[in-house]
Amino acid sequence: MSATLCYHRKNPEKKVSDDAPCNPLISEVDMSNEIDGGCLSVSGTMESGRYKKLQKGSTIQDYCDNENNVDDDDYDEDEDSDWEPINHFSLKKWFCCNCTMPNFEDVCRCDVCGEHKEFDIFGHELFKSTFGDGTWNSLKDEVLQRSQASASKSCTAIGFDDRMLLHTEVVMRSHPHPERPDRLKAIAASLAAAGIFPGRCSLIPAREIYPDELGKLFHPDTYANQHSALAARIAAGLCADLAIIIMSGKTSNGFALVRPPGHHAGTRQAMGFCLHNNAAVAAFAAQAAGAKKVLIVDWDVHHGNGTQEIFEGNRTVLYISLHRHEHGKFYPGTGAAVEVGVMDGQGYTVNIPWSQSGIGDNDYIFAFQQIVLPIASEFAPDITIVSAGFDAARGDPLGCCDVTPAGYAQMTHMLSSVSGGKLLVILEGGYNLRSISSSATSVVKE
Ligand SMILES: [Zn+2]
Ligand SMILES: [Zn+2]
Ligand SMILES: [Zn+2]
Repeated sequence: MSATLCYHRKNPEKKVSDDAPCNPLISEVDMSNEIDGGCLSVSGTMESGRYKKLQKGSTIQDYCDNENNVDDDDYDEDEDSDWEPINHFSLKKWFCCNCTMPNFEDVCRCDVCGEHKEFDIFGHELFKSTFGDGTWNSLKDEVLQRSQASASKSCTAIGFDDRMLLHTEVVMRSHPHPERPDRLKAIAASLAAAGIFPGRCSLIPAREIYPDELGKLFHPDTYANQHSALAARIAAGLCADLAIIIMSGKTSNGFALVRPPGHHAGTRQAMGFCLHNNAAVAAFAAQAAGAKKVLIVDWDVHHGNGTQEIFEGNRTVLYISLHRHEHGKFYPGTGAAVEVGVMDGQGYTVNIPWSQSGIGDNDYIFAFQQIVLPIASEFAPDITIVSAGFDAARGDPLGCCDVTPAGYAQMTHMLSSVSGGKLLVILEGGYNLRSISSSATSVVKE
């Protein structure tokens, strides 16, 4: 079995610390040599600490020399993703089912998230549900009918379709991809376990987005496979319909349980797991349905460079993003505070860049109180769309921040008053199944 113990950029000009996971097996590896094409060097902490203990004095350098079995054919050189694994050497290891991060064979709990090595996450009663068992299809019609009968203004409309589970990122033999179908299954199962859905929320019928609804947005002409194309069109279609339903007043809020995520997709290209910009599609649909002003709040831990690009010259859509930035070293590198929009749109892009990892509830709530809410209230949007990545959640392997489900619930609550309750929450990133499930569930409850 070949190991995946660090992350790299194939192109040295790209940011080297993009999404570097918080797994100490990875973060303590000095990536600078690796970028130059050399072997891995090991930092002092790692050499003198855990690694040495585990491997009885051998170093990663030894592994590079002796067991350098790189299989480069796993890489698509044209791929532009915010996540890339590397496998320069072999070690016995296991991948965490909850967060996908690699761990040494002799530890039984995941270094990043604490999940037990042998735990069957979908066997747990929290996840044991209709969705986890793959019988969603037989239930869908019934849920739809019940939804239409029980739909009321007070219930949350949910956009979900199991065809979005068929999309998989280009498979790397060496490492499970963090943007995976289990993300939706886990959230759906958690909503079911909480009795929220099916139940208190109504399901809307799924449809694919029409090409003309995408307008000048990026139209992907190559997909990983036909399932990806379909999944992306359904995700965008659901987001458009949820925006339309909310604007019509049939329901006041909605949750789009969709993938692939969208906020890195702009007018020119798809990047970072994203194919269509779902939030932008929803914003345009809301405007077509009568909204004059749309607020997009992006609390995904990464900057929504695609969304910013689409609306930076547009004063009818206010884009506010909170994200790790670290002076441009964190993926995708954009989103500095000085980026405030262009031409007509100046002042209608607001970036709140964090300078480090570990940001938690208090920082987010403070930023909401001091910046997001005052600006949003003055803007007085007709609808608020949230690009809701849960990769700033505690335990996320890529975000390495510390937001709790209660924090997400409070942010949701604060935003719901801004546009008279018209709120559409769209799933973006988030890769720790337990964290995204509990976070999304507390957001929908709110
Ligand atoms: Zn884990
Ligand atoms: Zn963001
Ligand atoms: Zn993200």
